[in-house]
Amino acid sequence: MSTYSNKQSLVILFLILLLVAVVGFWAVEKANTSSNHASQFQGGLEKGQIQWKIITTWPKNLPGLGQGPETFARYLDEMSGGKLSARVYGAGEIVPALDVFDAVSLGVAEVGHGASYYWKGKIPASVFFTAIPFGMTAQEMNGWFHYGGGLEIWEEVYAPFNVTPLAGGSTGVQMAGWFNREINSVEDVKGLKMRIPGMAGEVFTAIGGTTVQIAGGELYTSLQTGVIDATEWVGPYNDLALGLHEIAKYYYYPGWHEPGAMLEFIVNKDALKKLSPELRAIVKHAARAANQDMLDEFTARNNDALVNLVENHGVQVRRLPDDVLLALYSASQVVMQELIEKDPMAAKVHRSFSDFYDGVRQYHHISEQAYINARDKVIDASNIPKD
Ligand code: CA
Repeated sequence: MSTYSNKQSLVILFLILLLVAVVGFWAVEKANTSSNHASQFQGGLEKGQIQWKIITTWPKNLPGLGQGPETFARYLDEMSGGKLSARVYGAGEIVPALDVFDAVSLGVAEVGHGASYYWKGKIPASVFFTAIPFGMTAQEMNGWFHYGGGLEIWEEVYAPFNVTPLAGGSTGVQMAGWFNREINSVEDVKGLKMRIPGMAGEVFTAIGGTTVQIAGGELYTSLQTGVIDATEWVGPYNDLALGLHEIAKYYYYPGWHEPGAMLEFIVNKDALKKLSPELRAIVKHAARAANQDMLDEFTARNNDALVNLVENHGVQVRRLPDDVLLALYSASQVVMQELIEKDPMAAKVHRSFSDFYDGVRQYHHISEQAYINARDKVIDASNIPKD
């Protein structure tokens, strides 16, 4: 009798433990699922692992720009030991390229990678965080973001949209773009239809051109079918990947419009809040490392790509004439004045940007610029035959 009673107690105890285990497991699963409700890729994840979605404004697998979010995802995974991973989606896979900001703001994806100036219709002050005409180089932009108050003011600009920005890589100085005809004077720009985003687009319009905003993946077809007459994209390494040399002959420099085009990682604030302090730090440092990595890659690959374009594809490299550059600069001052007069936030960002730029430009005049000028001069002079 007593044996039977003990057996019965054990069975009841076992059933109670089983019930506790099942309820506990259900509760943990529910918590995990709700904290990652935006992710559809829970399959294969272990308990405590988080997988984010990174949506981008680039075609999937585009080298250069498209490598930025892939590098970021890899760093997240490596730094967190797999606790925080991310899957990258190209433009159009979840949302079209130019809807990335709204989608991250709404939490459709946790992270977006693109360029802030794509959102200038909604946020006029956003142009400063990618590039403004005749603005700062990549090195200078990084200095402003991380030691000159740039990132803080960018956070303020994006705060109403529930999005946190982080520097997302830079191309360095871009090329002025691909043209089907030579640009010898301002007259040659008149009536030209060009894809050129950001404030530079307004500047191009101000000197007589027409501006069209088109995502990278549609550039080739747009130029080929005559929807546009010219386009800027990035520089030799990335432009070669899009095949733009197949449909335009003249490749102009310098990139007056994007002297240090910075990209962005935008992170949904709710998704960020749900992370532990350690994972939040990893997001920040992974972005910072990916930011530098992109500039390193462009620096390493651009010249080989340019040599390839010229020697194997017959591309003709041309410098924009000084009078065209001067007209563009004059117009950029007028466009900037209009922007800061009508948008108080743009005026605030402009003050921060300009204060930093004035100082760094002055110093770079006798450091970076003076050195580059001097090395060219002595290297050229040393190659001149003596007699
Ligand atoms: Ca560009």
